[in-house]
Amino acid sequence: MPTLLIKNIHTLVTMDAARREICNGALLVRDNVIEQVGTTPELPQTADDVLDLQGRYIVLPGLVNTHHHFYQTLTRAVPAAQNCDLFNWLQTLYPIWANLTSKSVYVSAQMAAVELMLSGCTTASDHLYIYPNDSTLDDEIQAVQEVGLRFHASRGSMSVGQSQGGLPPDSVVEKESDILKDSQRLIEQYHDNTRHAMLRITLAPCSPFSVSPDLMRESATLARSYPGIRLHTHLAENKSDIEYSLTTFGMTPGDYAESVGWVGEDVWHAHCVQLDDRAIQQFGKTGTGVAHCPCSNMRLASGMAPIRKMLDHRVPVGLGVDGSASNDTSNLLNEARTAFLMARVRELDASAMTAREALELATLGGAKVLGRDDIGYLAPGMSADFIAINLDRPEFAGALHDPIAAMIFCQVNSVDYSFINGRKVVDQGRVTTIEVPKLVEEHNRLAHQLLH
Ligand code: ZN
Repeated sequence: MPTLLIKNIHTLVTMDAARREICNGALLVRDNVIEQVGTTPELPQTADDVLDLQGRYIVLPGLVNTHHHFYQTLTRAVPAAQNCDLFNWLQTLYPIWANLTSKSVYVSAQMAAVELMLSGCTTASDHLYIYPNDSTLDDEIQAVQEVGLRFHASRGSMSVGQSQGGLPPDSVVEKESDILKDSQRLIEQYHDNTRHAMLRITLAPCSPFSVSPDLMRESATLARSYPGIRLHTHLAENKSDIEYSLTTFGMTPGDYAESVGWVGEDVWHAHCVQLDDRAIQQFGKTGTGVAHCPCSNMRLASGMAPIRKMLDHRVPVGLGVDGSASNDTSNLLNEARTAFLMARVRELDASAMTAREALELATLGGAKVLGRDDIGYLAPGMSADFIAINLDRPEFAGALHDPIAAMIFCQVNSVDYSFINGRKVVDQGRVTTIEVPKLVEEHNRLAHQLLH
């Protein structure tokens, strides 16, 4: 099996149990797994492939994105939805999304994956919950596998249309029996529960206002009948979401989640901006995870999630850029910086989140939320997912006394190198697995078609 040596790393951020930050660091990779971590003199001096970073790069574990809707790259900055809150924004976009096809799902997934990879993401979860025309989750899975991102594909769903009191138009909802059947098919066809898996399946009914309590329960039962299938949905995103829950179910979102069996270590909820204290305690006790999406929450004026409080109650928290119709960028480094700034302004406390804590959310936090013990930190036996960023950039000027904090305090938009499962997917700032200009052109053509 081929070996890869990364040496003369200015600062190697391991995120291991001791949070070692190694000067003049090195990594030895065999095939797709890290074999040794240490200083450059401690490690072997040769390998089949050697990347000498000449003391000018910081290396970190690859970042983990825990919430996204890849298809939404096709509907960024749509004029009619630019200034809407969550429910109005959704109602403006549902009819446009009803025109999605197999081809547009495929191309937008590659576009989103490429943008994520350039911003340091090496593992992403995506939530596809609308399947108009000939589109399937298979389109997205194939697309992402081709660009080489480690992927957790969510079989999302909507089953309660407007005529049944839900938010989406009836034309974009599916029958619950069809949803469950397709969920089972996808699990059996694609889910890989082995260590270093590049593809896992998640079941993800979209939100309390677009599926029934029955579908929530039955999805949980189905997921729990297979090893390693996790559950994901949107929860407590804004005030209207809370009102819907109280009016329709007579329960807060936290109580609703518990009533349908959606708490536990195999569950994570996106947003949780308006989660109350009781639910935070419950999530902490049960290990129920949260995908924090600060840019989207600001963009839609949903509010600021109580992340400091969640961390203090030991709630597992990861970061999500959320769909590109509500961010409208898939930049995970930027999301970590935004989470850091938002925590401080929410608490009016300049120590509410440190830069290193923000990096932990983006790595260890995301890995925990996705139920992975093979990514999130760099140590022997872990998957070879890591990123390198040149410290000679203008953004780092004057901050080299603490390049790790500078990753968050200073705005860093992209990585120079990214390795996923031992494969170099970003080389000197360029994606190696696909021709990006062609992809952008095709993507823009499809986006134009969708809107006209
Ligand atoms: Zn979302």
